[in-house]
Amino acid sequence: MIKDLLIRNVRPMGGAATDLYIRDGRVAEPGNPDTTVREIDGRGQIALPGLVEAHTHLDKTLIGMDWFENRVGPTRNDRILADRKAKRELGIDARRQSARQVMQTLAFGVTHIRSHVDVDTEIGIANVEGVVGTREAFRGLVDVQIVAFPQSGMLGREGTLALMEDAIEAGADIVGGIDPATIERDPVRHLDAIFALADKYAKPVDIHLHEPGELGAFCLELIVERARALSLQGRVMVSHAYCLGMLEAQRQRSLIDALAAAGIAVMTVGSPSAPAVPLGLMRQSGLVVASGSDGIQGTWEPWGSGDMLERAKYLAQRNGMTNDADLEETARICCFGGAEAIGLTDYGLTPGCRGDLVLIDARTLAEAVAITPRNRTVICRGRVVVNDGILDSQFCDEKQRGA
Ligand SMILES: [Zn+2]
Repeated sequence: MIKDLLIRNVRPMGGAATDLYIRDGRVAEPGNPDTTVREIDGRGQIALPGLVEAHTHLDKTLIGMDWFENRVGPTRNDRILADRKAKRELGIDARRQSARQVMQTLAFGVTHIRSHVDVDTEIGIANVEGVVGTREAFRGLVDVQIVAFPQSGMLGREGTLALMEDAIEAGADIVGGIDPATIERDPVRHLDAIFALADKYAKPVDIHLHEPGELGAFCLELIVERARALSLQGRVMVSHAYCLGMLEAQRQRSLIDALAAAGIAVMTVGSPSAPAVPLGLMRQSGLVVASGSDGIQGTWEPWGSGDMLERAKYLAQRNGMTNDADLEETARICCFGGAEAIGLTDYGLTPGCRGDLVLIDARTLAEAVAITPRNRTVICRGRVVVNDGILDSQFCDEKQRGA
């Protein structure tokens, strides 16, 4: 049985010091805690709700495997081909690798993850099955959402759409899509197919959209039309949406307004090698903005830790943000923004919310983003699972969790 937990002297979101009480795995009014309640001293640290990784690829990380010597060409197609070859030749076990990434990022305080998971005609739905195994193994500690993701395209590879359905039947939570124009070469048909699938199974949609400039804008308009037609307010996310950073001001603003009005969220990683989306304008316009690590330590890119507080710093850096209010905003994107974008309803630090939080040793939220302290305490549903940045093996036995 989980004991209730009283956390003395913490500062929610960097505000005034208070005590937080977690009863039956949920944040509760302090009231009169049971005298047998477990108590920890928060030492005035900042308390954030568990960080939200809103976009990663758990099935493709190479954490703990041999170093991958990257000789991959520069185009997206080169990388997709290399990615498929690596799956064949390196023996990337999606079950084991996804567990490794979940454990690595839990130590940073990531308690909610949305992962795109490859579905294609070579591997079928094996990777989805592997990540479903990890989702079950971590149930109660980390929530994992699985996007059935047609990384290699869908229209040009016969049988992929049927595999997407199989993936949903096998436990995928969300219908994924990919560059409807540059990869699929038929935006209307691609988007019609994935929205029809979402409608059939009552699932949300999450689309990788790297399309540039006006081509990307056109695809965004098609997505808005379909989200509206199916009343998918709050259930559609566009990942990357680089085009938003490549348009003239008026066009940019009207698209952002259209996305916000349709309840479509945008995920941005703040990549140094891609166009920066106008973060400030997006947030001012009421658009829901989330962030994620994308692939970490894989064949696409060799780096990345999966720390969403560090990600907040990258967002600030990519957008030239240095003042405290902006840094605080990037931290919010990596917790509340992500939570709203991926549809969490019991998220936060107020009574009734799930008792998932991370304690950070910093004086202000801006300082937390700037220096990203690693000595964090992480609490999952009222249980302390990470102390001083180290996972407690009682909760995270590698063998038991499949890593
Ligand atoms: Zn991605």
